[in-house]
Amino acid sequence: MKGRPSFHERAEIVARVVTCGGLTLEGTSVSTLETCVAVRELNLCFDIGKGPRYAAGMDHVLLTHAHQDHAVGIALHIATRKLLDLPPPVIYLPEVIVEDMRNLISAWERLERRKTRYTLVGVRPGVRYDMRKGLFFRAFPTEHSLPSTGFQVFEERKKLKPEYIGLDGPAIVELKKRGVEITDPVEIAVVTFIGDSTITPLDRFPEMLKSQVVIMECTFLAPEDRPMAKKKRHTHLADIIERADMFGCEHLVLSHFSTRYTREDVNRELAAALPESLKAKTKILY
Ligand SMILES: [Zn+2]
Ligand SMILES: [Zn+2]
Repeated sequence: MKGRPSFHERAEIVARVVTCGGLTLEGTSVSTLETCVAVRELNLCFDIGKGPRYAAGMDHVLLTHAHQDHAVGIALHIATRKLLDLPPPVIYLPEVIVEDMRNLISAWERLERRKTRYTLVGVRPGVRYDMRKGLFFRAFPTEHSLPSTGFQVFEERKKLKPEYIGLDGPAIVELKKRGVEITDPVEIAVVTFIGDSTITPLDRFPEMLKSQVVIMECTFLAPEDRPMAKKKRHTHLADIIERADMFGCEHLVLSHFSTRYTREDVNRELAAALPESLKAKTKILY
């Protein structure tokens, strides 16, 4: 890597749009600076960063952990939606940080002499949380320097039961009239957001890599930064490459790069190091 980027390079944050797997991912994710990724089609955002404008329309916030660059915008998000006459947001976050987060939001309410409306839902690994009809997520534990969680979002679709495949329209209408359940629910894993974490959870929960889209951090890239990744409880590019065969997803979105790398560094390192199987499906979100 060449010398450290200038402050201007490090501080530049522009919301980027990455489209893949039928999803529009809008946002930014740079270590230390800000992480917030809105998914328009699902009406949710992963982390809230500093409460950016592009996330204001999202009804659901899936918050991975309380580092400020991921979470400090929570009170602003709530207040902005109230001013815009949008419904109170529902914020999902690790169960153990709910009380502290509520206290933080309450402090802002007192400071601003106004009441806001919102719902905080403490999440536990493995439990299903329904966001709206046909859309839910399950959380899984991640490994960072403080309580953290990842999210796997599913769409629930209906599939005709095998015994009814081949029936014509009128026959199906007749069955429905008689109240016969002719479909089975199927879960489609749409997107996984791992958040800040070591690579370890991937080994324990490999099914999270089978979503159509996997968004994950890759904070450190240079071989000499591997001890730093371990110390700061982040993922290193080498961790991902060692597990290249595990990525059953259609699209892999790498993000949360350290400010020690310029965009050119990131592009060059990934182009040089990723195996072809991963390179073909990888996109970058800065
Ligand atoms: Zn982070
Ligand atoms: Zn963090």
